This record gives sequence, C-alpha cells and structure tokens, in this order.
Amino acid sequence: MSPVPYDMTPAVAPVERSVTLLGATGSIGSSTVDLIRRARDRYRVEAVTAARNAAALAALARELGARFAAVADPALYEDLKRELSGSGIEAGAGPEALVEAARRPADWVMAAITGAASLKPTLAAADRGAIVALANKECLVCAGTLFMRRAAAAGATVLPVDSEHNAVFQSLASGRRAEVARIIITASGGPFRTWPIERIRQATVEEALKHPNWSMGPKITIDSASMMNKGLEIIEAHHLFAASADEIDVLVHPQSIVHGGIEFVDGSMVAQIGPPDMRVPIAHCLAWPARMAGATRLSFDKLANLTFEAPDEVRFPALRLAKAALTTGQGAPTVLNAANEIAVAAFLDRKIGFPHIAALVEATLDASAARGVLREPADPDEAVAVDHTARSLARDLLPEIAAKAF
Ligand code: NAD
Ligand code: MG
Repeated sequence: MSPVPYDMTPAVAPVERSVTLLGATGSIGSSTVDLIRRARDRYRVEAVTAARNAAALAALARELGARFAAVADPALYEDLKRELSGSGIEAGAGPEALVEAARRPADWVMAAITGAASLKPTLAAADRGAIVALANKECLVCAGTLFMRRAAAAGATVLPVDSEHNAVFQSLASGRRAEVARIIITASGGPFRTWPIERIRQATVEEALKHPNWSMGPKITIDSASMMNKGLEIIEAHHLFAASADEIDVLVHPQSIVHGGIEFVDGSMVAQIGPPDMRVPIAHCLAWPARMAGATRLSFDKLANLTFEAPDEVRFPALRLAKAALTTGQGAPTVLNAANEIAVAAFLDRKIGFPHIAALVEATLDASAARGVLREPADPDEAVAVDHTARSLARDLLPEIAAKAF
C-alpha cells in the first residue's frame, strides 16, 4: 500500500490537529503559519525548527504557543534558550534536536527544510506514522525508495505539498491509481524561458532570483531558473505516485495556473487549477481530508490566455540530467541532488556562472559512475554517506568546472 492516499479515503477530519513545522521560518513555513493564524482554534503547534535564525524562531514559537523549538546549528543553543526564557518553551539545537522535533507527538508534520538536510527529520516523522505534508523534494530525490518504504511500513500518510504533485494528488480523487494513463506536471519555465542560450549562459544571480510567478526560498528559485526543479519534481512524482519516467510528462505553462493533472485510461483529463500561491496546496494538506477557508482566490479572467509548450532540454540541460539519473537509478538521483546543492550554493556565492551549475552536476554524475559509487542507499546513513561522497566530489571538481568557458 502506498503511503500517499491515491484512492480517496472516507477519513474524517479531526476537530483539532496538532502540528509540527520543520523549516518554520522559510517561505513554505511562513505560508503554513499564515494559514494557521487564520484558524487558530483548529491547530495546536507542537514544535518548530529553523536553520540558524534563533530570534525569529523564538518569536514564532512564542506567538504560536509551541512546546519545543530547535535550531540546526548546535552553536546557537544558548542564543535560542535566552530568546525563549520565561516562555516555558523547550529549546534544542543540532541535527538530533531537529529529529526530536519530528518525533514529538504531532498528528501532522510539515516537512519544509531545504535540501537533503531534511531527510532524517522527515523520516523520523514518517517512522512514527504521522501525516507528513511533504514540501521538501530533495529527500525523495536523495532517498525516495527508502523513504516511501519506511513511510508505508509505519502506516504514515504522505501528502504532496509541492504544487504540481498536490495537483496530481487532487486529480487522482477522480479515479483510481490503476486507471491512470499519464501524469502531467507543469513548469513555469522560470525567468529564462524565452532567453536564447547565449544570454542564459551569462545570467547573473539577480536575474536568476527573479522568478516570474512564485515567491520562494533562494535554492528552489535557482532550481526553477535552471529547470533542475522540474527534473527533481519528475523524480519526486516517480516516488510519490509509483510512476515510471515515461508515465510522467512535463509541460511548460508560463502562467502557472494549471499546476498538474491526470489523463485517465478513458481519455478523460482532470487537472487542478488555482492561483500561483503555495498557500493553496498547503491549505489542502493542512485540513486534509477536509477543506479549510483559503487565503487567495483565482479570478476566471486569468484563464483567458493559457499556453503550453514542450520543455527545451538543450537550453535547460538540468532537465535532461535529472531524467537520465532517474533512468540510471541506484544512487544516481542521490548524486544528482547532492551535486546540485553544491552547485547552487556556489552560484549564489558567485563562484561559478549559471551554465556551470548543470556542468558541475553532469561532471559529478560521470565521476561517480566511473568510480562505481552509484549504489542505491538502503538506509538513511547510507543515503547520507552517498550524499556526502557526492558533495566532496562536486567540491573537488568545482575549480575545474568554474574555469570552463561557455
Ligand atoms: P526557504 O529557504 O525559504 O526555507 C527553508 C527552511 O528550512 C527555513 O526555515 C530554514 O531555516 C530551514 N533550513 C534551511 N537549511 C536547513 C538545514 N540545513 N537544516 C535545518 N533547517 C534548514 O525554502 P522554501 O522555499 O520554504 O523551501 C523549503 C522546501 O520546500 C524545499 O525543499 C523546496 O524545494 C520545497 N518547496 C518550496 C516551494 C516554495 O514555494 N517555496 C514550493 C514547492 C516545494
Ligand atoms: Mg513545484
């Protein structure tokens, strides 16, 4: 049985839900908090986490009445404790504290830490059979087989938050998984959708951070510009919906109104449409299996000019690399994700240019394959080990790739 409830279950929504927010201070975390603020009587906050911003985390924990707050950086424990003094809220710091936050008895856990760093805490929530609202896609790319297997074994429920996957999930309610012929996820195409390749190669950090439709954290915004985000999302869809690579289609849809859908075997197509606002899919997961009052509405006049086009893998090679990693299987997606995290950080630090992101990912995949380290991670420690090896390989290759002229 899949932990994603493909075939609508007649579950009853609880009167009050206890929730934990992993990555509470980020873009997804803040959108989740915004929805909770609108329905305070229905949600009790158990734990909140952040990477380093102890002051912002403590303020949030106080406002939401959380019982536990944890920062990822162990050096910030005293800072967080001081910020929380007198509140009765427990403080924690370091990777184990993030796992502890996930283990605490909340019914529902938002997994919104960026990157593979999300793996262990998200897995800890799944392992105790919680409802996991999964925004983070990197942990599925890094260790999807293992994650889905453990979630199923623990009886966890995994709800897709990523807008395209949430759209597919909502569309699935019109039929059964076995009746699906094709899964469609759309892509905005990012800020460089219409740019010629020569101009994309010269793109600056500022240009790449200017997403036309969505306001998101920096890592996913760069991934959207390179279209690696869509590549990661193909791998995410593969794990969430037990779909092979050729069952998943990507369509570039610059208006970001149709987020994704299903073609059923009878030719019927069901898609989910909505404003490009993450509070819509988050609200769907927060209240699931019921619906809550949302924060934004879509006016139908926005639907007048919807366009769709095939993605261009020549100008956006990251998409090709992600598909190839999915086909190769084993540890290739883990390596792809790790190398991409290093490449995006290096681009944001202005150490490499935009085209070097895909080049570094490709070089790391090739070098890993040549070294024969592409085994499929069997447990979280192995996933972390493959991830760390790939990161150090990517760091070693960085100077050589940075020197490449495009
Ligand atoms: P963000 O950078 O705005 O926020 C990330 C959150 O995680 C922050 O609370 C940060 O403090 C914390 N964090 C970052 N690195 C950490 C680490 N190493 N250890 C512990 N905590 C850490 O990112 P975001 O845009 O909110 O995205 C979060 C996740 O959701 C990503 O995996 C992203 O791909 C996914 N996602 C985001 C959007 C969106 O619209 N923002 C849409 C779909 C999916
Ligand atoms: Mg998405």
